[in-house]
Amino acid sequence: MRETKSTCPYCGVGCGVVIEHDGAQITGVRGDPDHPANFGRLCTKGTNLHRTATPVVLQGQRLRQPLLRAGRGQAPQAVGWDEANAHLVRELLRIRAAHGPEAIGFYISGQLLTEDYCAFNKLARAVLKTPHIDSNSRLCMSSAVTGYKQSLGADAPPCSYTDVEQADCVLVTGANPAWAHPVLFRRLEAARAAKLARGAGHKLIVVDPRRTETAELADLHLAIQPGTDVALMHGLLHACIWQGWMDAAHIEAHTEGFAALKDLVREWTPARAAKTCGVPEADLWRAAEWFATSPRSLSLYCQGLNQSSSGTAKNTALINLHLATGQIGKAGAGPFSLTGQPNAMGGRESGGMATLLPGHRDPTNPEHRAEVAALWGLGADEALPGPGHTAVALFEAAARGEIKALWIACTNPAQSLPDQALVRAALERCEFVVLQEAFAGTATAAFADLQLPAATWGEKEGTVTNSERRISRVRAAVPPPALARPDWQVVREVALALEAELRPGRPSVFATDSPEALWNEHRDSTRGRDLDISGLSYALLDAQGPQQWPFVDGPRERLYEDGRYPTPSGRARFVASPVRPTAERASAAFPFQLTTTRLRDQWHGMSRSGAVPGLFAHEGGPVLRLHPQDAERRRLVNGELLRLRTARGATVLPLQTDARVGLGQADLPMHWGAEFLAGDGINALTHGARCPDSQQPELKFAALDVASA
Ligand code: SF4
Repeated sequence: MRETKSTCPYCGVGCGVVIEHDGAQITGVRGDPDHPANFGRLCTKGTNLHRTATPVVLQGQRLRQPLLRAGRGQAPQAVGWDEANAHLVRELLRIRAAHGPEAIGFYISGQLLTEDYCAFNKLARAVLKTPHIDSNSRLCMSSAVTGYKQSLGADAPPCSYTDVEQADCVLVTGANPAWAHPVLFRRLEAARAAKLARGAGHKLIVVDPRRTETAELADLHLAIQPGTDVALMHGLLHACIWQGWMDAAHIEAHTEGFAALKDLVREWTPARAAKTCGVPEADLWRAAEWFATSPRSLSLYCQGLNQSSSGTAKNTALINLHLATGQIGKAGAGPFSLTGQPNAMGGRESGGMATLLPGHRDPTNPEHRAEVAALWGLGADEALPGPGHTAVALFEAAARGEIKALWIACTNPAQSLPDQALVRAALERCEFVVLQEAFAGTATAAFADLQLPAATWGEKEGTVTNSERRISRVRAAVPPPALARPDWQVVREVALALEAELRPGRPSVFATDSPEALWNEHRDSTRGRDLDISGLSYALLDAQGPQQWPFVDGPRERLYEDGRYPTPSGRARFVASPVRPTAERASAAFPFQLTTTRLRDQWHGMSRSGAVPGLFAHEGGPVLRLHPQDAERRRLVNGELLRLRTARGATVLPLQTDARVGLGQADLPMHWGAEFLAGDGINALTHGARCPDSQQPELKFAALDVASA
């Protein structure tokens, strides 16, 4: 029996795992006691990882060879790699020649490794010259990215998991880490219990419309009305200003823009904010006092802030509170965004998104484009394209017939994107859809003209970055099944063939032929940037374990401790964003406020976690949760099948009454697509309205009607 250290492929906590195997088959998994994210702990999903790699799963649920269909409506046939690649190259060249490079789009994933991201980015931008490459991280973290950039000057979460343990006050807002980031939550629980046991004091404030498992532990639960987060933050800041709970010295020395923000929040008295949010005013005052006057206050936030048409404003309003009270740049304090996916951070760092370039560069900046072109070894006449379509916009462009070819990797847009009717119409309208996937039979596979089998966890080499900027190695323990290959390798072979046609006689940008070589290129792209990892190497990661960036002479546990921010002035910026309503609002026709949420033991579209029967023991299937009074008013009974309807689609699900759901609200787990249900999938109900700054769609709010089926 052998052991290989790697990283869990599920959430952004990024726990280290030890894979037990015999070189051919994975037989077990346990937490890595040496990994600083988890010190040996794993949650239920992580503990069951080896069960996603059993011979039964490998045979029945994995995509094992390329599949090509001769035409729409025909069954896909198994082909070899040579035929698959030749067809793929022919189709991309045909579409590019007929419609231009911008007719080709890439939709990739925060579950790819950084090395895979680097390969896709070069293929799209340097070889095909299309600007349209975006990631499903757009659904997850883009509001956090723009929030950090607007307020602090760079997309860099300033905190570490050790801050969770050192904080005296933790504000959890728009997140349910007890279920979505379980191992980090265990660290919070343990630290809180230890502090309380020694009489040191600890405050936990949870802001969430639902009384979640995280809220159950809280000293104070602010059950706000969905979508009112900015009003709450402005009300908290007003209270701090009124009471003098400010850090005037910090504001004076290290920030700018406070006067404009003060003018804006003057209108947001605690009484008005409390009324808007539907919480007692006294609770708002209490939260403001605890947050501002505790020696060290930390906030943890995730999709409740990000998946919103006001996503960036919610992020900056929270960061305003930290800046005004001096709760940043010191141990146990700061605004700490939790990443949903295992490598959403790596995708941001390597610039594998429509609004980013490698090394946190900006595709709207000609100098940045030139720097990246030079790093990739492109000729002076080979300019990189500017910014491209973001995720939802990419599918909207495909639905309009502007995008003709879509290459999708490691994600399942026919289940996970909002407004499924539009997404499926877009996939139908494309002339050519490629799906590069480890798992067979996902909803998107039904739309794919060509399916390419990818290696996955336990079978491939590379790196990921977790929520606390920590880069961990991902290692192969066993070979991929049948003809499956690592994603970077699939991309490289196609890119080399395309280069022969599109860049004949020029030095290849794909001379790099290993994950380490790709990662070294990525490292070089960070030199002199805020995320500089020029002091890191695979060898150092292997010898000394996972490391936080920036890493020049050593790791940086916490950012902005010197009070300097990566803005032109060196000061952090207060951002004065007005309160805006959600894109949809409850009405007589659609009276419920629908929020999509996560279950403890499932992951996204369940391609992986759904392969483990034991993970359905906690929640066996989707139910719509309503408050008992709402059910009673409508004469609906527990277990009854309901028809759920929004302006875009409908589905049928059983009712479960639950007093933890707010009055007038409806709670639905996000994990199920149409293939699992009698009606449409969950995202047939959601919509694609998005934050104007981050382009992140508002998956957390839709207006819903409910009736007996
Ligand atoms: Fe994996 Fe996240 Fe669970 Fe850790 S907390 S074991 S990273 S799913």
